[in-house]
Amino acid sequence: PVVTRFAPSPTGFLHIGGARTALFNWLYARRMGGKMLLRIEDTDRERSSEAAVVAIIEGLAWLGLTADEPPVSQFERAARHRAVAEEMVAAGKAYYCYASQAELDEMREKARAEKRPPRYDGRWRDRDPSEAPEGVKPVIRLRAPQEGETIVYDQVQGEVRFPNRDLDDMVLLRSDGSPTYMHAVVVDDHDMGVTHIIRGDDHLTNAGRQTLIYQAMGWEVPVMAHIPLIHGEDGAKLSKRHGALGVDAYRGLGYLPRALLNYLARLGWSHGDEEIMALEDMIAWFDITDVNKGAARFDFAKLNALNGHYLRAAPDAELVDLLMTERDHLPNGEILKRKPDEETRALLSAAMAGLKERAKTLVELADSTTYLFAARPLPMEDKAEAILAEGGRAIVADLVPRLSAVGDWSATPLEDAVRAYAEEKGLKLGKAAQPLRAALTGRTTSPGVFDVLAVLGREEALARLSDQSI
Ligand code: GLU
Repeated sequence: PVVTRFAPSPTGFLHIGGARTALFNWLYARRMGGKMLLRIEDTDRERSSEAAVVAIIEGLAWLGLTADEPPVSQFERAARHRAVAEEMVAAGKAYYCYASQAELDEMREKARAEKRPPRYDGRWRDRDPSEAPEGVKPVIRLRAPQEGETIVYDQVQGEVRFPNRDLDDMVLLRSDGSPTYMHAVVVDDHDMGVTHIIRGDDHLTNAGRQTLIYQAMGWEVPVMAHIPLIHGEDGAKLSKRHGALGVDAYRGLGYLPRALLNYLARLGWSHGDEEIMALEDMIAWFDITDVNKGAARFDFAKLNALNGHYLRAAPDAELVDLLMTERDHLPNGEILKRKPDEETRALLSAAMAGLKERAKTLVELADSTTYLFAARPLPMEDKAEAILAEGGRAIVADLVPRLSAVGDWSATPLEDAVRAYAEEKGLKLGKAAQPLRAALTGRTTSPGVFDVLAVLGREEALARLSDQSI
C-alpha cells in the first residue's frame, strides 16, 4: 500500500508552498487508497518551536489535510538515528572521522583556492580508530562510493544523475551524537514505511545523497517526486507581496479551504481544462506523473475568482455558519459581534442571497453586512452623502409616506411603490433607488435596494429613511 508523508520543519508557520506539498501527498495517498503520515522535523532544536508545530497542525486541520496517524517527532527518534549510524560503522558502510575543525577549514580553503566546491577528502576513510587523537569525539561519515554515479528516478524531474565524485563522505552523526538532517530523513522514511516521497524540488540534490544512505543500508529507495516550487506572478521567487504567506494569513484574508485547495491543486498540476474541481474529482484524477516540471506562478486574481465561485455556490446557511465561526480570524469580524448572535444570524440569513453574489472573500462578505448591524444615525460614505446632498434627501422624504403605506413589507410590493413614484415624477427608477440605497446603507453599492428594505424590516428601514429626509 502507498504511504506518503509530509515532513515540515517547525521553524515558522505552514506556508503556502508547504500546504501544496501536503495536498499532493494527501491526494496521492487518497487516490491510491493509502495513507499520508506527518513527521515534524524538529531535530534542529535552535530553530524549531512548539508554536510552529501548533501552527502547522492547525493549518493542516483548517485545510482538511489531516494525517492518517498521529504525528511523528523526528527529535524523539534520535536514539534510533544513532543506532543506525553505529550499525553502519559495524558493517563497514560508515566510519569514525576524527578530523579537527582546523583540518576541515583547511580543506575548505584549499577548495576555494582551486575554485571547486568544498569536499571532505576522506582522510579517515581507511585509518584505524586506534590512531585517533586523544579526547576528540568523532563524527560518523558514510563510506560513499567514489566512482560511478547515483541515479534518482524522479516521477516529475525524470532521471537525474549525480557523479559520485561530487558526493563526498557526508556526516551521518555529529560528534555530539545528533543525526544530520540527511541521515534522519532516510532512517525515518524507512522506518515509517514511506513508499513515495513527494516534496519541493529544492530537495532534489538531497535525494542523490539520501539514495546513497538507502543503498548502504540495503533498503529499498522510495519512489521520489520533486515538485517545482511556487514563484510569484513576476516569475521571481515567491515573496510576501506575491503570496508567500502562512496558511493562517489566507484564512485571515477570507479564503475558503475548498477554494484554496482547488487553487493549490491547479498550481503545477492540471487535468485537461478543468478549473473547478471538487475534492472527489481531484482525488479521482490526481497523479504525480502529471505534475509539471516548470515552476508554477502564484496568481491572486485566479484565487479570488475561484473563491468567489465557491462563495456563490455555497448554501446560504453554510455561509452564515462560516461567518460566525470565522469571525475571530477575520480582520473585520467585529462587525458580526455588534448584535446578539441570535439576531446576527437572523439578519445574515435574510440578507445572504443578495450579499454572496458580490463577494470574492469572506472579508468582503463580512464588510458587505455592515449596513445590517449599523446603529443610527448611519455613518455615510462621501459618495453616499453627495447623492443625498444633491437632491437625494427630497426624494427620500417623498418616499417615506409611500413606503409606510405598503402593507406587505416585502421586496416586490416595495418595488412597485417606488416604481409608481418614479413614473409619476418622470424619474428613472435608478434616480429614486440611489438615494434610498444611500440612506439605508450609507454606501453606493449594496445588494438590490428592495431586498435591503425587506431585510431591514419596516421599522428600521423607515427610521433610517426618516433620518435622511428633510
Ligand atoms: N523538513 C524538510 C522541509 O521542511 C522536508 C524534508 C523532506 O520532505 O524530505 O523542507
